[in-house]
Amino acid sequence: MATDSNRDSRNTTSIPPRLLNGDEEDPPLPTSPKLNRTVQLSLRAEPATATPTAVKSAPEKPTGCWNDWRWQMRNRIRRLDQLAALFPRLNDPSNRLSDVVAKYPMAITPYYASLIRRADESDPIFQMAVPRFDELSDPPFLSADPLLEEAHMPVPGLIRRYPDRALVLATATCSMYCRHCTRKRVAGTHENTIAGRQMARIGAYLRAHPEISDVIVSGGDPFTLRTEVLEAVVAPIRQVRSVEVIRIGTRAPVVLPQRITDELANMLRQYHPIWVNTHFNHPRELTPKAADACARLADAGFPLGNQSVLLRGVNDDPTIMAELCRGLLRMRVRPYYLFQCDLVRGIEHFRTPLARGLEIMEYLRGRIGGLGIPTFVVDAPHGGGKIPVLPNYVVSVGPTHTALRNDCGMMVSYPEPRDKRPASARATRRGSVVAAPGAASKPSE
Ligand code: SF4
Repeated sequence: MATDSNRDSRNTTSIPPRLLNGDEEDPPLPTSPKLNRTVQLSLRAEPATATPTAVKSAPEKPTGCWNDWRWQMRNRIRRLDQLAALFPRLNDPSNRLSDVVAKYPMAITPYYASLIRRADESDPIFQMAVPRFDELSDPPFLSADPLLEEAHMPVPGLIRRYPDRALVLATATCSMYCRHCTRKRVAGTHENTIAGRQMARIGAYLRAHPEISDVIVSGGDPFTLRTEVLEAVVAPIRQVRSVEVIRIGTRAPVVLPQRITDELANMLRQYHPIWVNTHFNHPRELTPKAADACARLADAGFPLGNQSVLLRGVNDDPTIMAELCRGLLRMRVRPYYLFQCDLVRGIEHFRTPLARGLEIMEYLRGRIGGLGIPTFVVDAPHGGGKIPVLPNYVVSVGPTHTALRNDCGMMVSYPEPRDKRPASARATRRGSVVAAPGAASKPSE
């Protein structure tokens, strides 16, 4: 992978200094506050249906402060003229960003924008936050919903792809619209939240299906909901006796760490056991503010896991991924999954060869303890579910020995226990040597 230092440095723009100090109290607004808006979220209200371009902006006073998550939400960079004010290089109609954001909305919190060091694609934060024309270049094998989530929605707002698990789409709003999002078809197209009557139907469905023991609250980002609205989503799920575990998927600790308040943690801790999965992709996202947010969640008793996505030019480098995993462990976040990019329209430019992911996994093994190594998975198209993809350490399987290799390439012949079953029961296996898929060599016995 190209790194910051060896990428093309032409056409770069320095970031205005006012955005470089993420810890400063009350920095100047990055944009005119007149351009921003707040969408009221309520379980009792009908979904707010306005798109970013359809809502008239209401004048607001810049009374908030940098460490207030509501201020960060209100002052998200949502429009191209706001973006161009920060990154003048983007003020070029030939890059057709207006077509991109018309299809895939843009939002960047001032906090996350402050992490950008260079205004070009050599910067991983820039890549994940700023739209680019490549999002409109789709090979024909991509689809908007390759995981067939919408085909697995027994009631609106609830996706069920596995017998024991279900996922609730609590909102379509995120504080930032990640350019690599797997739910680009939904995220930000309507900044709304689940209605109360939908939650009632979801509760009824869960009660009627006691085999579902694990419910994931996702979206969009559930932590963009006001605390009382989030409680109105979580509480009815917790009331279903057969639901043992609730998981919340959020990118707030990464892009809006100010959201992790004591008020939020204290509300959620009433509904334990709750696990929180977050989504750090690059070590540059592991800021002191992000560490504070994770510490607040961990201290409140939420086990933390991280789901990264392997992104070309962002983190498809073994040393970057190792640094990320180590940093996550220091923040009490366990690296959980490393996802291969889904076959989703609009993100092809981020996709890496599977072999790259295997190379990274090979590198991590032996350099980081098992606690810090995520499982590399492909979420199979056509709703096939998650498939773990591993470097092949089993070279061959024989009746008496299995040939293994370690991460340094050392071959080991592992003796199997003696099979004491009668010969007739063993006949089908005797003498057979099954080469494991992708076996590097014949057994050395
Ligand atoms: S926060 Fe999650 S759901 Fe929202 S845009 Fe980013 S990846 Fe998608």
